[in-house]
Amino acid sequence: QSGFVNIIGRPNVGKSTLMNALVGERMSIITNKPQTTRHRIIGLVSGDDYQVVFSDTPGVIEAPSYRMQESMNQFAFSTFEDADIMMFVTEPGEHYADDDPIIQRLQNVKVPFFLVINKIDTVDDGKVLELIKLWNDRISFTETIPVSALQKVNTERLMEVVMKYL
Ligand code: GDP
Ligand code: MG
Repeated sequence: QSGFVNIIGRPNVGKSTLMNALVGERMSIITNKPQTTRHRIIGLVSGDDYQVVFSDTPGVIEAPSYRMQESMNQFAFSTFEDADIMMFVTEPGEHYADDDPIIQRLQNVKVPFFLVINKIDTVDDGKVLELIKLWNDRISFTETIPVSALQKVNTERLMEVVMKYL
């Protein structure tokens, strides 16, 4: 089993924290270039019979207001096509519209794409169920997994689901 998982989402939804939680103790290598908001971070999880590469892309920013942000968006999107799994990370909150540019792109993605609702430690179970329904009414995800990257809730489960698709 081997593959490439692309983690995408708005800034501050917890992409880096999630990748650290997934790669964690199994980490073999992380390349972390300076100014991590502009450079891709790669985490490799490997064992005797598997190898999974996670890519934590720079945040996608809505309505780029200057050239730098524009090129960051281009870079984030440029990795869409080579992934085996797209992992779209979002968080509870009232900023659903902010995710629209990413959602638009996801509609054309041919590979399995996961909805990861992060930071579920900040809301109650009812709210989580509400969010799952709200998101899946907007777009049909291959898998929907609520997690807390910070508290490592459901992150092992997420890793199992990743392996299922590789
Ligand atoms: P990124 O910009 O998407 O890479 O987000 P980061 O991983 O840098 O996280 C942004 C902020 O959210 C940090 O302060 C994290 O500690 C916090 N955060 C990340 N995951 C969680 C979570 O599961 N629960 C809570 N409460 N905070 C989180
Ligand atoms: Mg980050």
